[in-house]
Amino acid sequence: MKHQPREVYIAADPVNAEIAKDMLASHGIAAHVRRQYLWGGMGQLPADVYPGVWVDDDGDYQAARRLIESFERGPVASASPWFCPSCGERLDGQFTTCWSCQTPRPAE
Ligand SMILES: [Zn+2]
Repeated sequence: MKHQPREVYIAADPVNAEIAKDMLASHGIAAHVRRQYLWGGMGQLPADVYPGVWVDDDGDYQAARRLIESFERGPVASASPWFCPSCGERLDGQFTTCWSCQTPRPAE
């Protein structure tokens, strides 16, 4: 079976694309960024075209998608809400300190 490159992620900007590509590489998945405006028509505005991250081998696609999905959620955004041990405020998972009294989130 011939392996084909396959797009796994449309990034919001080139920086995000590079981060996603490096994240995949750190998991042993070869990937590259294609900036579509490089071969876009002359009348195409670069702002309309988002860079895509492609795996070099479509056999990696499923694993890459799982990594991308957890990457998109982010390590902290997926955390559950917590209660400040100092003042009892309820805080959403993305906060690492209490917005009310600045107490750091306790380790779980
Ligand atoms: Zn607090």
